Amino acid sequence: MPDILDEILANNERFLQQTQLPHVGHAPRKHTAVVTCMDCRLINMFEPALGLERGDVLELRTAGATISTPDRPQAANDLIRSLAGGVYLLGVRRVLVIGHTECGLANVNPTVLTASMQALGVDPQELIQKEGLGDLNGLVNWTGAFNDVHVNVQEVVNVIRSSPYLPRIPVHGLVIDINTGKLTLVDRDSRSSL
Ligand SMILES: [Zn+2]
Repeated sequence: MPDILDEILANNERFLQQTQLPHVGHAPRKHTAVVTCMDCRLINMFEPALGLERGDVLELRTAGATISTPDRPQAANDLIRSLAGGVYLLGVRRVLVIGHTECGLANVNPTVLTASMQALGVDPQELIQKEGLGDLNGLVNWTGAFNDVHVNVQEVVNVIRSSPYLPRIPVHGLVIDINTGKLTLVDRDSRSSL
């Protein structure tokens, strides 16, 4: 495998020679935060599909565009922390949660997950015990795995809407088709923006 770090450093030198970026402020122009997945196929596709330019929105990416189950009740997790920073420090007044089809976090097979962990020297049972995850289901929930992307988007929307850390701003839910870029609305929030 060629060293990705060397490759990236060489690419970066070329980039600096060829490109001079205009200065853009850190507050998102469209006063919007977008929560989506880490999927590699979103690169060079996601923003054009939404018509977004550099400086327009905050982009927050988590595996599955989700919040894992142990974090959900108080929703005091890192995604909420990031949204709070966006709202209170950077002027965000609406949130879009955008899951995608064919997500790696959909329908996670527990056997494949534990076999992969074992192959890399991590004992799933020991982890479940040490971290108080209960059982294999608890471990799968910890990864944030889900069965239906639409249901997951709706759940994440609900968690964000009900977070005590955030004001009552509109939180919309959508799903993007990873192959075509087509957006489908899951939940349009009827709350008006502050
Ligand atoms: Zn995904």
